[in-house]
Amino acid sequence: MNYETLKELTSSYLDLSEQQIATFKQYCALLKEWNEKFNLTAITDDEEIVEKHFYDCLLALKHIKQDSLEVCDLGSGAGFPGLVFAIAKPHWKITLVDSTKKKTVFLEEAAKAMGLKNVKVMNKRGEELPFRERFDLVTARAVAPLYLLLELGMPILKVNGRFLALKGSKASEELDEAKEALRKLNCSVSFINEEELPNDAGKRNNIIITKDKPTNKKYPRTWGEMQKHHL
Ligand code: SAH
Repeated sequence: MNYETLKELTSSYLDLSEQQIATFKQYCALLKEWNEKFNLTAITDDEEIVEKHFYDCLLALKHIKQDSLEVCDLGSGAGFPGLVFAIAKPHWKITLVDSTKKKTVFLEEAAKAMGLKNVKVMNKRGEELPFRERFDLVTARAVAPLYLLLELGMPILKVNGRFLALKGSKASEELDEAKEALRKLNCSVSFINEEELPNDAGKRNNIIITKDKPTNKKYPRTWGEMQKHHL
């Protein structure tokens, strides 16, 4: 996918300026440059980066229209979806969290090089964050099964805040498996946006889950506990 198509396909819900498109191009160049030493992503072709990283993440903004939100992206990796959102939504304040040092070094340097003032980077595990009931929106793509993500995300969300999980074709299985987690963590599914990805790349299910009530202080448990006794 080229940038012209990216702009066109997102135009019903985003109005990307020339400046923003230029920033995406810079992001793509930085990814390729740093990928040589840091092995950040398996996707290294320009058109594929635009399609499988940028467009794939931007799709999730179709149903989140607010212009000013405090956001946390868990397990951001090379910046997906968090850094993409930071470019597309300059008024969102975004905290990018990843437990791998080389990922957060890249995220810091890339945000600085692109002049993004709305980004904070934290080299921490999601279950060890020093936040409680703090964010309007928590996001994650390709980090863990939904029931685990919810245990990481709900404690740091405000009541009525939303969790956005970018999931693939197995979304309904993951939702089934997360039933008990949804109940114990006082949250409920608000919306599932099923999208067909271009070039037969399969389905993307963007799941939006709303936090209905405060989260019990015993969550999140340790990573080991979460795996051993899953909600
Ligand atoms: N969201 C990115 C990266 C996915 S790979 C994308 O879609 O491309 C998963 C990332 O989550 C890795 O960078 C890994 O370091 C991070 N991660 C895994 N478990 C984590 C945890 N408990 N807390 C924080 N980061 C975690």
